[in-house]
Amino acid sequence: MMFNALVVEKGDDGKTSAAVRQIGLDDLPDGDVTVAVEYSTVNYKDGLCVGPGGGLVRNYPHVPGIDFAGTVEASDDPRYKVGDKVVLTGWRVGEAHWGGYSQKARVKADWLVPLPDGLNTRQAMAVGTAGFTAMLAVMALEDHGIKDGPVLVTGAAGGVGSVATAILANLGHKVAGVTGRPETADYLMSLGATQIVAREELNETVKRPLEAEVWGGCVDAVGGDMLARVLGQMQYGASVAAVGLAGGAGLPTTVIPFLLRGVNLLGIDSVMQPYDNRLRAWERIARDLPMYKLAAMVQPAVLSELPQLGRDILAGQIRGRVVVDVNA
Ligand code: NDP
Repeated sequence: MMFNALVVEKGDDGKTSAAVRQIGLDDLPDGDVTVAVEYSTVNYKDGLCVGPGGGLVRNYPHVPGIDFAGTVEASDDPRYKVGDKVVLTGWRVGEAHWGGYSQKARVKADWLVPLPDGLNTRQAMAVGTAGFTAMLAVMALEDHGIKDGPVLVTGAAGGVGSVATAILANLGHKVAGVTGRPETADYLMSLGATQIVAREELNETVKRPLEAEVWGGCVDAVGGDMLARVLGQMQYGASVAAVGLAGGAGLPTTVIPFLLRGVNLLGIDSVMQPYDNRLRAWERIARDLPMYKLAAMVQPAVLSELPQLGRDILAGQIRGRVVVDVNA
């Protein structure tokens, strides 16, 4: 039986190309569980993998898609039976192991999580890796204590930023969203942001290592100059959950915010999260993320649109989350 997948191939000239092709079950990589995929999403890493050069792809031909949700179709693992709804993020799926841009996927049972009550497969992928990471970031901030001041979310109109804004606002925090797209202000307010900060206000390189104490916490999807600047504006003892590098991998700062303000810089990695953490985060998502706000973030897509959507996300042009219906 053949089915559709977006396959990335590498030519003799070293160039990569992505196209929707028919593949079979025998083509899928080894694994304990075969899943009939329903939805996948477009994340920043997916943009790299479907784009020229193959980004993070480790083997060719390759099926990208770093997350998916669907229904178990066959299982050699007692934890999963046929018909179970499951969700997958991380574990280098879509980079080193074929991923979710396919109507079927075969993976290790250890990488899956049962879909929590209160979420269907489409909602789980409206959250996807970006939203799952936003939840991990909020949990890390909570573990270290969120201060009274507003919580800053950088890259607010993107995937991680949108979900972080909605969760934090729903938990009762004042949220300041940083965006380079003023036209997204109404959208961010609808997710619960109480303040919009223009990207230019924070993009300058650090002039003074410490500025006025403003932010009670921060979820940072941008990194680079912006993160360096934000570190000097954190309240005493507040924490920054560093998630991404959409604005650059450098960090031109000093030790001063850490020494004189006790600022915590918390690195968030969604890829290698142990099972219990993943389960806890998905259960928190089902509880703490209002579904009407999640619905407002979503743009639907189909497999054939992925090469263009990959370019769009790398250019910072996607608002919220793109959910790919692999069966459409
Ligand atoms: P998106 O592209 O959806 O969002 C990124 C946002 O950052 C953009 O929408 C834009 O927001 C802002 N931005 C883009 N370029 C710049 C720039 N040059 N300077 C300042 N701001 C910029 O991506 P995601 O939200 O999905 O991912 C964000 C980051 O998090 C990526 O680096 C990604 O790789 C990383 N990530 C990390 C994970 C982990 O496990 N640690 C998991 C998931 C993602 P606006 O228009 O509002 O300014």
